[in-house]
Amino acid sequence: MDCIEIRELEVYCHHGVFKEENVLGQKFLVSLILYTDTKMAGVSDDLEQSIDYAKVSHFVKERMEEKNFKLIEAAAEYVAEKVLLSFPLIQRIQVEIKKPWAPILLPLETVGVTIERGWTKVYLSIGSNMGNREEHLRTALERLQRERTIRGIRVSDCMETEPYGYLEQDSFLNAAVELETIESPDSLLKILHKIETEGGRERTIHWGPRTIDLDIVLFGDVIMQTETLTIPHREMHLREFVLRPLAQLAPWASHPVYHKTVSELWEQMSQNNTKGRNETDD
Ligand code: ADP
Ligand code: MG
Repeated sequence: MDCIEIRELEVYCHHGVFKEENVLGQKFLVSLILYTDTKMAGVSDDLEQSIDYAKVSHFVKERMEEKNFKLIEAAAEYVAEKVLLSFPLIQRIQVEIKKPWAPILLPLETVGVTIERGWTKVYLSIGSNMGNREEHLRTALERLQRERTIRGIRVSDCMETEPYGYLEQDSFLNAAVELETIESPDSLLKILHKIETEGGRERTIHWGPRTIDLDIVLFGDVIMQTETLTIPHREMHLREFVLRPLAQLAPWASHPVYHKTVSELWEQMSQNNTKGRNETDD
């Protein structure tokens, strides 16, 4: 992706673990790589179509000065988030913060930290099969909409599907959601759990009835497995209630493990189901 670079912006502020650093302050060098599509600005020669690096530089200086962090890791995290939220044309950002005067009683050129953060496209599956199902889905979507770190929400039609796993329960209303977020997979999961709890979700029977269920189906091209989170969703390619709404919303979204599009996975699942039914018919 194209990028705009700001190198070694000098700011004087008071971050640090030592009291002397907080009292006396010191020089910090901030470098930024702003990933963005410069094509429109390149063709139009119009600053409005691009990112004003003067504005970004002043903005970063102010953000660096308005808080005192112990760690430059925290200062970098703060700057990255604030810039991404305030300059929507920046898709990803690399922030490097260096301390040329780090007080470690040894000569050194600089010590620094570099992080990269950005907006990632995410697909969720949402479902409800208790009480006023539409209302539960609507409330969850409104809550997602209100999250500062989430933007660009698109939703598929709501679709009625039969229960999965535990069959002694009412049918589900499901939808797929597309969004962009600057959260990490784990911090997004925390937000989804919070929305589920606020929506009256009680975790009783696994795969049992629920007012609202929010699952992460795809998170950019991330592949991960931890105790609390598997991405892409472990069973997305087997579940009609995930694939049918997702095939309507994002047929070309790609599964990073199977290297198949959602529409291919959906077609494959429908064929397997038909084959299965025919075989039992015989
Ligand atoms: P399910 O969604 O499979 O019906 P739950 O909603 O009760 O079941 O989720 C149980 C746990 O699954 C969650 O607490 C979460 O830690 C874990 N989990 C693993 N991968 C994912 C994912 N991709 N999206 C959401 N939850 C996940
Ligand atoms: Mg879930």
